[in-house]
Amino acid sequence: MEIARFIFNPIQENTYVIWDETLECAVIDAGNLSAREDKALTDFIVEHGLHPAIAVNTHGHFDHIAGVEHVRRTFDVPFAMSGKDRFLLDAAASSAHMYGVEIGGTPSDIDIDLDEQGEVKFGNTVLKVIATPGHTPGHVSLYEPQSKTLFTGDTLFRESIGRTDLPGGDYSWIMKSILDKIVPLGDEVRVLAGHGDETTVGHEVLYNPFIVEVLNNEVDYTR
Ligand SMILES: [Zn+2]
Repeated sequence: MEIARFIFNPIQENTYVIWDETLECAVIDAGNLSAREDKALTDFIVEHGLHPAIAVNTHGHFDHIAGVEHVRRTFDVPFAMSGKDRFLLDAAASSAHMYGVEIGGTPSDIDIDLDEQGEVKFGNTVLKVIATPGHTPGHVSLYEPQSKTLFTGDTLFRESIGRTDLPGGDYSWIMKSILDKIVPLGDEVRVLAGHGDETTVGHEVLYNPFIVEVLNNEVDYTR
């Protein structure tokens, strides 16, 4: 699987384009906001001869969905996300405004509800949908088992975790997601997050302070 990362919008969000030998691709968390960013994403896809099959999101925050409508309209692809984050679509413009960001069209609804699908397929690639709530109620991580690559959105970052103080966020849930769903995938798993640089599960188990304090029994995340 080939992966390209773009860092988009004032929140410095990671948008990923992933594809395989069929040249079908998926756009994960399209956060392109300006005309320049729209063009950068579109030009990349066209210049590489890629054929977008789906726009798929880890969650519904505005910095991750700002470019979804552009991708959906330009390439006529469906938008997949958990229905539990549907409420965030309506709130996107006003939350963006609070950050001083004006976003254009956001998708009015989800075409494919990831709560009803165990996986997302394009070309010869299968992404397993792993529910990892906590940063948002409908947050999912997307796992490609062949290359052992996990797209963690805003659940797990390199040496940090996503915020849980936003509407629908929950600290116990995010830690349960990380410890019960992500850590068991194995140390060698490559982690590509929604912000910042890539890491591995093994690195996080050793160096992520939020995980380490739980593993050392310094914090009871269940309370
Ligand atoms: Zn987020």
